[in-house]
Amino acid sequence: PDRPVGCGPAPALPIGALTEGEAKRLLAAYGIPTTREVAASTADQAIEAARSIGFPVVLKGVSRVVVHKSDLGLVRLNLRDEAAVRTAFDEVMAALERAAPGAAEGCVVQEMARGEAELFLGATCDAQFGPMVLAGAGGVLVEFLQDVRTAPAPLSPHDARALIEGLRVASVLRGLRGRPAADIAAAAGVLARLSWLVADLGPRLAELDINPLILRAAGQGVIAVDARATLT
Ligand code: ADP
Ligand code: MG
Repeated sequence: PDRPVGCGPAPALPIGALTEGEAKRLLAAYGIPTTREVAASTADQAIEAARSIGFPVVLKGVSRVVVHKSDLGLVRLNLRDEAAVRTAFDEVMAALERAAPGAAEGCVVQEMARGEAELFLGATCDAQFGPMVLAGAGGVLVEFLQDVRTAPAPLSPHDARALIEGLRVASVLRGLRGRPAADIAAAAGVLARLSWLVADLGPRLAELDINPLILRAAGQGVIAVDARATLT
């Protein structure tokens, strides 16, 4: 029910850990909004990419062996001009060679997304329970708050919304102290689509995380700014 025509099939993807860009292509095949992004293997290409996307931009180092990019100096946010992109490219490429010797795959330039709140959304195919989705407080908070809920996939947008509304962080999403409410309905739509993705792929999808999904103000939508996936 509620499943729009035109979802899937998934694009051809390699086995094992995907790059952020590959994981986002899988999400995009299910109608999940992801950042505009362009790969760059030289500083000039990164500047050209930034011009085509529009400033400010985000620059990230790409390697499928890296799990936490920001811990390794591989994420540079809010780059406002060409000089900032050039410096960031050189620094990130150097950090990438240290972090993933022999497994560097260049850089990616992304649009810089802004929003009111962040969520973590995940999917996994559990050996016992089958396809599952989870949602929790996003960013670094996910490890600290232990505010995570799970449900078997597939899930309707209505049930996805109930799951998100049941998180402790939902009070923040509804708007605190005069801050605008975040687009919970759009986040629920993404969680439902993620549940269809994991229900379709089944055990081929070992795990897939969106961390974070950035939520804009109510009615303004959401966008996946980071994704990780492992296929078997
Ligand atoms: P990591 O591998 O460390 O999780 P991320 O790609 O998630 O790297 O980047 C770290 C943080 O930077 C994110 O949690 C998010 O807050 C912010 N971020 C990443 N990409 C973007 C983007 N395109 N627009 C805005 N913020 C971003
Ligand atoms: Mg992340």
